[in-house]
Amino acid sequence: MSDADRVCAAVDELRADCIAFLSELVRIPTVNPPGERYEDAARLIGDRLRALGYAVDYVRPREQRDGPPRVNVMARLEGAVARPTLHFNGHFDVVPVGDPAAWTREPFGAQIAAGRLWGRGTGDQKAGIAASIYAIEAIRRAGIRLRGSVEQSATVDEESGGFAGVAELCEQGFIAGDRTDHVIITEPLDVDRVCIGHRGVYWFEVTARGLTAHGSMPDLGRNAAEAMARLITRIERDLKPRLAGRVTQMPVEPPAARHASISLNALHAGQSPEVEQTPMVPDACVAIFDRRFIAEETSGDVRREIEDLVAAEGAADPEISWAVRDLMLVEPTATPADAPVARATSDAIKTVLGRSATIIASPGTYDQKHVIGRGGVADCIAYGPGRLETAHRPDEYVDLEDLANATKVMALAALSLLGTAS
Ligand SMILES: [Zn+2]
Repeated sequence: MSDADRVCAAVDELRADCIAFLSELVRIPTVNPPGERYEDAARLIGDRLRALGYAVDYVRPREQRDGPPRVNVMARLEGAVARPTLHFNGHFDVVPVGDPAAWTREPFGAQIAAGRLWGRGTGDQKAGIAASIYAIEAIRRAGIRLRGSVEQSATVDEESGGFAGVAELCEQGFIAGDRTDHVIITEPLDVDRVCIGHRGVYWFEVTARGLTAHGSMPDLGRNAAEAMARLITRIERDLKPRLAGRVTQMPVEPPAARHASISLNALHAGQSPEVEQTPMVPDACVAIFDRRFIAEETSGDVRREIEDLVAAEGAADPEISWAVRDLMLVEPTATPADAPVARATSDAIKTVLGRSATIIASPGTYDQKHVIGRGGVADCIAYGPGRLETAHRPDEYVDLEDLANATKVMALAALSLLGTAS
């Protein structure tokens, strides 16, 4: 029997343990926002890793902000040699349930039915955490000693930007170019797909300021809401066609997201619709935009393009003043499809599933930005069980066959990246 066969057989033997661990994890409602029960989930994961032979640390952000405490798990299993080191990262925060009436399963019940495990956070992405832990355990159970070392981190706040999670592990030196060689982020991109990166994000807020006046004599004021409407029209007319024409070479899924885009995500001016109205010309209007940019654009150009549009609107009506404020900027990131971790994972998919892996890029963003940007580790992909289209939706689930297969893929990728000690 080959090493690969023995490891895959061990994954099958560990199936019940893996599912039981995942169920326990899903039953802890680590809802973010606000970040509930993080301590409990971190202990569960840390205790399991310790029981499986890892040295375990709990890493807190250097600055605790308001709200529930943030804590991350950082674990290391020493190989025959310190390096190479393969680092698996998964986030254990989950998005809120939303309207409970939209669910036909108990959101935190971890019910098993129809070959699936159901619940919020199953696919996105507690199944990924369970898979990477049991992938390495299967290697040990198969009696194989890895040459290189394995690290597993389970982190918080990915759904809100990852700043207290993966970004902290990078800033505190746990994910770093001088200790980490390969990183697999276990997000749910589907069992046969390797995600090499993501597009860029620029969130910004635009404020228009005018002059208030009695609503019956609007000419005495300067209506900031109407000024914003003109800016929005300018964006629709001038910017959107340009963005639609900019198409990336990255294999973004879905293909409809392969071009640059902008969305008006929030808009407010004047009195709240919930209060009784008085005749007031609004003197301020705030809009929040969500600009997604492609690797072929630079963040500098993206910002300048917005500033130019706002400046053009300012020139057209000098009595309105404008301000643009950055809310978030994430650079696009991509690992080459022939980088070691991408190849090892693609090859393992071929071995386990008998079909070629699909290389994709994410339309959104995830923690890869921190691994590459802050940690300086270039050899990073996302791969995990769970189907992307079930994430954040009612009746979220992970297919148990996918869970087993992804566990095998991770194990074979680890064998190939780290080698075995004789
Ligand atoms: Zn996720």
